[in-house]
Amino acid sequence: MKCDEVRILLSALLDNELTPEEKKNVADHLANCEDCRREYASLLKLKEVTDDMKYLDLPDRLWAGYWHGIYNRIERGIGWVFLSLGAIILLAFGAWRLLNDFFLSSRPPLILKIGLGTLLFGMIVLLVSVLRERFFSRAHDRYEEVEL
Ligand SMILES: [Zn+2]
Repeated sequence: MKCDEVRILLSALLDNELTPEEKKNVADHLANCEDCRREYASLLKLKEVTDDMKYLDLPDRLWAGYWHGIYNRIERGIGWVFLSLGAIILLAFGAWRLLNDFFLSSRPPLILKIGLGTLLFGMIVLLVSVLRERFFSRAHDRYEEVEL
């Protein structure tokens, strides 16, 4: 076998794609030819490096995606906690003020109290309905993520 022929087969040898006969021919040549042996050694080194890079690269990308997902979830979780807390504080304060200054006061006429009470009740029902829909669609999204 000539050096040119061997060089062509070297990378196939590294990928374990040679027939037993070709493998034997190349091995015989390498045993007697230092140039091809050196070429083989450098190819082997290159393959090791690229294999290492493949192994390092993939988990890195997976980790980046993982942390990005975690970060998004934490961020949204914190957002929801603060939003809920703020809404509860404002609603409680508003309800307390409304009860004291409006509903327990004798100044506004009863019909105005009934009107505003009905309006507020409707708004609360709508708010709860919208929030419930949001939570349901969020749960649905999470289910789809798992499916992927
Ligand atoms: Zn050679």
